[in-house]
Parts: sequence; C-alpha cells; structure tokens
Amino acid sequence: MSKHQKDLTIEKLMDKIKTYITDEKELSIIDRAYKFAFEKHFGQKRLTGEEYIIHPLNVAYILTRISADYETLSAALLHDVVEDCNVSSSEIEKEFGHNIAVLVDGVTKINKLNLSGTTEALINNQRKIIVGLSEDVRVIIIKLADRLNNMQTLFVHSEKKQKATARETLDILTPIADRLGINSIKQDLEEYCLRYLNPSEYYDIVEKLNATKAERDNSVAKMIESVSDLLNKHDIKHEIFGRSKSIYSIYKKLEKGKRFSEIYDLLALRILVDTEQDCYQALGIIHSKFRPKPKRFKDYIAMPKTNMYQSLHTTVFGIDGQLYEIQIRTYEMDRVAEYGIASHWSYKEKGSVKAVMQNEMEQKLQFFRAIMDLKKEQDNPEDFVNTVKKEVFQNTIYVFTPLGDVIELPSGSTPIDFAYKVHTNVGNKATGAIVNSNMVPLDYKLKSDDIVKIITNNNSSGPSREWLNIVRTTQAKNKIKAFFNKANKEENLKKGEDVLSKELRKQKISNDDFFADDKIKKLLSDLKFNSVNELYGNLGSGKISVNAVIDTYLKKEISKEEKILEKATKGSEKQNTNNSLIGVAGIDDIKINLASCCNPVPGDRIVGYVTKGYGVTVHRMVCPNVSRLDERLIEVKWNIDCSKLPTNILVRASNDNNSLIDIISKAANNDIPVRRFNNHHSKEDDAIEMTVLVNNKEQLLKLMNDIKMIPEVTDVERLIK
Ligand code: MN
Repeated sequence: MSKHQKDLTIEKLMDKIKTYITDEKELSIIDRAYKFAFEKHFGQKRLTGEEYIIHPLNVAYILTRISADYETLSAALLHDVVEDCNVSSSEIEKEFGHNIAVLVDGVTKINKLNLSGTTEALINNQRKIIVGLSEDVRVIIIKLADRLNNMQTLFVHSEKKQKATARETLDILTPIADRLGINSIKQDLEEYCLRYLNPSEYYDIVEKLNATKAERDNSVAKMIESVSDLLNKHDIKHEIFGRSKSIYSIYKKLEKGKRFSEIYDLLALRILVDTEQDCYQALGIIHSKFRPKPKRFKDYIAMPKTNMYQSLHTTVFGIDGQLYEIQIRTYEMDRVAEYGIASHWSYKEKGSVKAVMQNEMEQKLQFFRAIMDLKKEQDNPEDFVNTVKKEVFQNTIYVFTPLGDVIELPSGSTPIDFAYKVHTNVGNKATGAIVNSNMVPLDYKLKSDDIVKIITNNNSSGPSREWLNIVRTTQAKNKIKAFFNKANKEENLKKGEDVLSKELRKQKISNDDFFADDKIKKLLSDLKFNSVNELYGNLGSGKISVNAVIDTYLKKEISKEEKILEKATKGSEKQNTNNSLIGVAGIDDIKINLASCCNPVPGDRIVGYVTKGYGVTVHRMVCPNVSRLDERLIEVKWNIDCSKLPTNILVRASNDNNSLIDIISKAANNDIPVRRFNNHHSKEDDAIEMTVLVNNKEQLLKLMNDIKMIPEVTDVERLIK
C-alpha cells in the first residue's frame, strides 16, 4: 500500500516523470504548473502541519504510477488553486491552455462538495462526480489520486470524518475506479477504507499476514523456482513474481464465511510472458506437472472482463501439496490489469492516445450521460440515488442461450454483441436474431433473462460495417474491425507459422526435415500452394487444418509397416467432416472439429469446447483435456451415425508378431479400415496403438471385444492423448 510522502520535492517528482516523459516542452509545462501552484498556495498549511504544496505534489506522484500524461500531471499540481486560492478558471486557461483548464475545472467542480455526510450531500456528491466524469475521463483519474492522498493523510481527522470519507470513497469512488479498470489505485483506496471503517478486522488480517509471512515467502520462493525451471525447459521466456493478495480482498472472503487458513490465494504467483500463445502454453505445461484444482480455471483472455481485464487464472496443487493461485498474462495484459483505461498512456502510441482514451471513455461512460437526463426527470432525490445505483453499479445483464447457458453482457448490448460473445464465427455469420421466440432487429437492446438465438448463414459475406455503430461491447467492435482489417493477413501468417511449428514439435518432426528443399516443394505442390507463406496464411485463417498438412506430409514417408497395412486393409479412408454430424446448442452452421486427443465416435457421450477462432471442438465426456475448461463448454449431440470416423485404441499383447495379423483380420472382418498403427515393443509386451475408422461406438466396442478374444492380447482400451 502506498504511503503519503512528507518530504516529496518537485525534483523527486520530475525524476519520476522523466522515466517516461522526455519531451522538453511538456516537462517545462509541468514545471511551470508546479511553480504556479507553489506560489498560489504559499503560506497555506494542511491540517497535517505541512506546506500545502506537498498535497498536489503527492497527487501528481500517485499519477506517475499509471504513467499519466503531462496535461493530467499539470492539472494535478494545479487542482486546488481555483478552489483554495481564488484563481479564476480563465487565468488557468490563459497560462496553461484549454485542456489543462478543463481538467482543473472538472476537479474543482467535484471537490466543491459538502462532505458532512447527510443524505443530501451524498446525492450532491454523486451528481457532481457524474458531471465531472462526463466531461473528460482524466478528471476522475485526478480525483481518484486526490482522494487517495487524502485517505493517506486521513489520520489527522476526527473519527467521524474518517468514517464518512471512507464510506463515501467505498460507495462512490472505488466502484468507478473498478469500472475504469484502474486497479493500482482502487486497491489502495479499498485498503485505506477498510482500515478506517473496520479497524479491528483490518489489523487482525495484517497481524495474521505478518505472522505467516516468512513461511509463505519461503513456499512461494520454492514454487517460483520450480515453475521457472519448468518454463525454461520449454523455452518460454517469462518473469514470475510472488503476489501478495490485497488485505481488502482477503477481508471480503472472510466476510463471506471463509476461514483465514482456507484462503488459498494467500499463496499466489503471477507469470508474465510475451504472447497470448505463451500464456496458454505456460498453462498447459504447469498443469502437466502440478495438478489443477477443478473448477478454478478461468480464461479471461478469451472472455475479458467488462473493464478490459485479461488473464488466465488457475489454482494448482504445488510444492508441499499447498494450493497456489496462479495468474498468467502478457506484459500488455498486465498493464491493462493495473492501469485499466489509463493504460493507453503507457502504450507510447503518441498522438492517437487521446482519441483512443476518449473513445473508450465514451463507451464506458455513456451510461453516466444517460443518468444526467434521468436527473432532470426525477425530482425525488431518493429515487434518483436508487436509479443511479442501479444504472451505474449494476449495469450488467444476463441473457441465455436456447440451452440455458448464461451469457454476461453490459447493458445496452445487442444480439450482435451476444453472437460475438458466443463465438467469432457466429458473429461473422449472423443474419438475424430470435429473442424469446420473436424475430428482432439486430440493433435490438437485450434485457436480462432474454433467451437469444442467433440465426446464421454460412453464405453470409460477413458482418456489415454498420454494425460498428450498433454494438455495445469492445469485443464485438474489435472482431468486426478485425474482419475488415487487411492487416489480418499478417496475423494469419504468424498464426499459421506458430500452429505449424507447434504441431511439428508435437509430432517430433524436425524443421530441417520438414523444410528440406525437395520435401517442402513436394508438399506445397500436393497441397496446391505456391509458397510457404501461402501455406501459413491458409493455416492461420483456418482454411486448411494443420492435421491435413501433416497427414499430406507423412504420406510421403510411408513406413514399411504401413505399406503392409495398406495392402491388408481396404476401405474408405475418407474422413467425414460433415458438420451435420453434430448439433451445437441451437446454433447452426458452426465449424465442428472432432478432438484428436480422444477421437469421439457416434454413440459416445460428448461435449463441445468453444475454441478461439476454430469453431467447436468435440470431446468425449471422459476426456481429461476438457474437464477443467468448464467456462467454454457447450452442449452438443450426435445427429446421425453413418460415417467412418477415426478413433484410437491401444492393444497390449504378449510378444508375438502373429497377433498383429490377427488384429488386422479382425478389423477387416468387421469392415473397419485401419488407418495407422504404431507398435511399441518392450521386454514385457507389445503396445499397439492404432487408428481405426468406425461408424459408431457399437461397432468400435464389437471390434475391441473381438480383439480381446485373441489369445495373445492382454488388454484393449480406447486411447486419449
Ligand atoms: Mn486536493
């Protein structure tokens, strides 16, 4: 938790600012703002006995944490001069320009509050904050920093004032900080609030944390080392930090009835990596070594929170059997998690920053504007407060898919937002929507409890540009833009390259081998591509699957065994990829892939997993690769049962070469083609892994039973990779 700095100087502040602002002109404006404020506040003292200027210096210093721009920093230094020093707004404008004057003006308006804590004052408060918000989001960011410094020095006030300020902060300011995603300031505010509102609980938690700190630090250090080794072994560049949970979040959990010892997030790590792919890869690697706790996995990368937060969350049984909560995210996601809307400052995309922030602010705060109109309509202050609370702090709606899955959306969302939240392909192919059995226009505003079915058409040429004006969520907007974005091509190239190299690694095919001149030429001509880039592009856009590429490649290297097999087994190798095979949760025309790990066949109990950009992957219910990914599971069912689908079985037999021929003939007798097999010899027995093409589960079970009857065979099981 950050503390008030009694001896903060402009030199110290400027040193901090210079770590990210280098423009001399901007720096000199900040310096001028300081000198102006210093002069105007000269002789004034804070209740703490300090020179007044220490307060604006601290506010600006807090703002450097989120890399605030020079206008915001200047306004922070000047934020109290209009209110406390009889400086006029026009004077600020003359000295520092329009933008800075607007910011100072906004903060002044919000601060002209009666903080006595009566109901009327509270209402005034809320109104003025909302007014300020509507003008420029930077006003509220300065206000949050101002309040934080005031909380840091709250000890000088009476207990009554302390509690009133803390209450107001917790009721009004922290929810706004949360909505804007400015976590780094929000957490500090919450902790100070708790300290003043519930001192005994606060100090109790602090004490318990201190008592267990050495032990926790020790465990966390060991776990960090172990995880870091693991990631290094897989060449994933990363940084890992032990993470202390905020006292306030611990308090909230205790309040819900948990015991201190039960709050496993006490042991927490954060892993930062370069790319989104690295996040998922790191997760997989960690889960392969440390068993994940069921139902604790959350994918906020695929489904960001409404305040833009993205990260993977998982809880694993780590070193010494202790539970560790692990967050995995990219550096960029980490910045967004800490700074929220303010993160645009740190992206260094000069020039466009303001436009981007303004745009996003408008999106996030448009409902605040609507409230301004409400205010005019409602004379009764109590009604107004209730309406504000409802609109501002509970602006999330919950709607349902036809199968009853809950989808969370910000209020004002349309069926298009819904469609994109379900899946990009559903959004891109959407042509209409049915809500509660009625056809509605695509700009229909969804309400909580609506049941929404999206009508898709595979021949649809894609989203309409007009949708950009209709949708409410950033997610939908981005996906529509991506569709139109030509730069998408480059992304596909990169994605294709990644997908292929990952698969090569998985299949243990070396790059040198794969890309050997004659081989790659042959492969490209077989696939009818002109260049490797074309191959990448088609892989990235999903036009061709990586399995198809690898299969084509491997066919060029038929082993001796496979040659025997090809002769021994006749029958269609044509794999049915017909989508009509499986039905998904009331959605037509979605791309279906059968999972290659567990290879479901008709008759198996199955479940769908919504993948990012590749449609729905269908797994067997028993497949361990899906059990923990519950957030993205979707109900699917077999429609028909007539095609040859590949699935894998493992046969164990005593060392006897004859069994192989027997197995193949059993398959032939059942009219089941054998597509591929692998014989692992060992001293004890043979493990024969084979891919067979079956119509349904019944046929598969019959084959397995037949194979079991072979005397040398000791065991037959279905394989899940
Ligand atoms: Mn102030």
